[in-house]
Amino acid sequence: MNILKVGSLYHIGIAVRDAEKTAKLYIDTLGLKIEHDEVVMDQGVRAIMMVPENGNSTAIELLEPVVEDSPISKFMDKKGEGMHHICYLVDDINIGINHLKEIGIEMIDNEPREGLNNTLVAFAHPKSMNSVLIELAQKI
Ligand code: ZN
Repeated sequence: MNILKVGSLYHIGIAVRDAEKTAKLYIDTLGLKIEHDEVVMDQGVRAIMMVPENGNSTAIELLEPVVEDSPISKFMDKKGEGMHHICYLVDDINIGINHLKEIGIEMIDNEPREGLNNTLVAFAHPKSMNSVLIELAQKI
């Protein structure tokens, strides 16, 4: 059996209606800076990653839908804006996916897909993870 031990908590995903406006809020209130800003058409989102000015820290990832039927839109229709998922780094995304499948976790992604900022990612279903959407990411 494959063994999975995740690395750092990479980011916390937050669903928002307006990523730019929310980014400004985090800049003005907490002094965060924008590290990365990208539209990921595959997922139908614009994602702005933000980190503190000083020191290493887990990022936040503001996710704004750019198409009507994106998963983020559906999430906000049900639950409104707010925390959407947490993401852990892994050395090998395939080992991560296979390990979780082997122990009976329902995966949204059975194969890695391209993520934000040169990563391969896969999501585990919140049904299997006590209602939290978990993302694994491998830097490439
Ligand atoms: Zn994410």
